Amino acid sequence: MDLTIVIPFLNEQDSLEELVERIYQNVLPLNMSFEILFVDDGSTDDSLNRLMKKKKEHPEIKIIRLRKNFGKSIALSEGFKRAQGRVVITMDADLQDDPAEIPNLLKKLDEGYDLVSGWKKKRHDPITKTVPSKLFNFTTRFLTGIKIHDFNCGLKAYRNEVIKAIPVYGELHRYLPVLAHWQGFNVGEIAVQHHPRQFGKTKFGAKRFFSGFFDLLSVLFITRYRQKPMHLFGMFGLINIFLGFVILLYLTILWFQGVGIGRRPLLFLGILLMIVGVQSFSLGLIGDMMISTRDTSPKFAVKEVIE
Ligand code: UDP
Ligand code: MG
Repeated sequence: MDLTIVIPFLNEQDSLEELVERIYQNVLPLNMSFEILFVDDGSTDDSLNRLMKKKKEHPEIKIIRLRKNFGKSIALSEGFKRAQGRVVITMDADLQDDPAEIPNLLKKLDEGYDLVSGWKKKRHDPITKTVPSKLFNFTTRFLTGIKIHDFNCGLKAYRNEVIKAIPVYGELHRYLPVLAHWQGFNVGEIAVQHHPRQFGKTKFGAKRFFSGFFDLLSVLFITRYRQKPMHLFGMFGLINIFLGFVILLYLTILWFQGVGIGRRPLLFLGILLMIVGVQSFSLGLIGDMMISTRDTSPKFAVKEVIE
């Protein structure tokens, strides 16, 4: 199979039929074998019925129904598990992403990229979305060093091995390029058309800023310290223990000289640093013991074997 299109959706009844038509208009001329995996993330409207009607006309459509609303990341990952195409394209179901970009994404992949991300250069969303998004993209770019403008675009193309290699859970779909980059895949970007939402409403409210922040922390942890938690927690722990030790040593010397130290704030600081330090060090140790019993190494670290 040449191409799999994965489309997670939650209550998008008015967009789905037109979306299917537009995908066929743009994919049929490419003469590729393809499948469209719609992942129903617990929709409660008429989405499923309307999609079933379309499925009767088009055998390439498959529908994966989740038991309840699990969120876009889980929906994507269930689609990824079943994707058979050599190339996998994801897009949103709300017609904001344009299927006319599919050939452009494929062309860019052929230039030697493993993941090509869409960049909503001219974005049609309310300012309450675009401003936080700029901030999010800037922070992620700064902290990860990956030079793309738009991490969170729903429209992306991947080589199959990329999606099979990256773990998507929680809300990590925003960081797919980061996770892929960490595994050594070549990440590229093209500017894509973006449309205003015509039907229904956005599924991501203000809550996402908080969860987005925590997800960034976990992505940074996964990509930098997953193999070696001791380097983070152990180092932090040792520094604290050292500082605490110096302080307490100093106070002990004073005590032997007959100076009262019982009420000195420094005493409490010393004790605090020691306790925090030992805690953090043990955390690193436990982390190391846990990863030593399981395989957390990148699944597709080898590109090819030349014999
Ligand atoms: N979506 C989903 N599960 C969710 C939330 C959203 O499958 O829990 C889908 C949604 O139907 C759409 C895509 O993810 O196809 C992007 O969502 P949305 O358009 O609401 O996000 P925005 O474009 O506003 O960032
Ligand atoms: Mg949208």
